[in-house]
Amino acid sequence: MGTWRDNVRRVTPYVPGEQPQRPVIKLNTNENPYPPSPAVLAILREMSGKPEAGNRCEAANLRKYPDAEVTELVNAISEVYGFDPAQIFVGVGSDDVLGMVFLTFFNGNAPILFPDVTYSFYDVWAELYRIPYRQIPLDENFRIRTEDYVNHDGPIGGIILANPNAPTSVSLPLSEIRKILDANRDVAVVIDEAYVDFGGESVLPLLAEYDNLLVVQTYSKSRSLAGSRIGFAIGSAEMIKALSDIKYSYNSYTMDSLTIRIGAASMRDTDYWKATCAKIIATREAYRPKLEELGFTILPSSTNFYFATHKSVPAETIFTELKKRDIFVRFWNKPRINNHLRITIGTDAEMDALVAALKEILAAFG
Ligand SMILES: *Cc1c(COP(=O)(O)O)cnc(C)c1O
Repeated sequence: MGTWRDNVRRVTPYVPGEQPQRPVIKLNTNENPYPPSPAVLAILREMSGKPEAGNRCEAANLRKYPDAEVTELVNAISEVYGFDPAQIFVGVGSDDVLGMVFLTFFNGNAPILFPDVTYSFYDVWAELYRIPYRQIPLDENFRIRTEDYVNHDGPIGGIILANPNAPTSVSLPLSEIRKILDANRDVAVVIDEAYVDFGGESVLPLLAEYDNLLVVQTYSKSRSLAGSRIGFAIGSAEMIKALSDIKYSYNSYTMDSLTIRIGAASMRDTDYWKATCAKIIATREAYRPKLEELGFTILPSSTNFYFATHKSVPAETIFTELKKRDIFVRFWNKPRINNHLRITIGTDAEMDALVAALKEILAAFG
């Protein structure tokens, strides 16, 4: 005789990076080391004002449901990126957006394609929604081979690529994505541009030519707002309508009213955002030779992290030893990448502490 357990939907969940609740040097989840735009702080101050201060006082307004269509935030994204509001979909982090994307667009019987080494949530969503999928190995240099997505055998149900890819940090130029789009005009092609602001080439300009292309971005990395959970997708109005229909069939009020305002203010402060990205890129390039001097090989990064391997000391040893010194980086005990570390770019002071700790560890274990 069966029990309720036979009817449970079972999935091996995604494992997020550790979030230690004490001060450490945190280079393990690709957060931005700099605070969000001062415009965000201004909104938080306004929230703490007295209700009499006017009906913008957020604390008093929390009694009401938020705007389910997140108009204010959609309009800010529309202004900054130059797309019609009908081409923009917003979610609670790009994880929320991507989950909806899998549910909405990958509803066929043919397998969807994505690389074997990529964002480790993709196979989890595919399993959750029972979507058939095929993971295509990156080449021996951890690069996506465009050819594999142009001349795949048999029909497919769609493609999703992180570009730049994670955790490898390597990016594909727009011209390569164009080849993939030209060969796959009849399925949804989703490009996850979580790291594009750190030096990748966005495919947003291709939206004018391909109505099956969807671009997903996030506030979590380049806009220093991982804690607020804001992500968005830009695509054809038809694709956005399909996504919205699924979203409103699942949970309509997902983004709270405070986050909507924070997101709009942060989006409009483009000078601050660009300056912050530039600082991180400068740190990334300045510290690369210092790590190479210590014996690390680092892939060319278009992101806010390094994907690095050491010539003699195993990644797991370095990971464990750094942690003992309260420096957190990311390590996966998974085939192909179990001798690599993913190291988020921090402030210069954090990177100095990292280099000092690595010198100590390599002296002891090298
Ligand atoms: C960080 C990340 C995301 C998710 O970010 P959110 O915080 O949910 O917006 C999505 N894709 C990739 C490749 C990422 O690295």
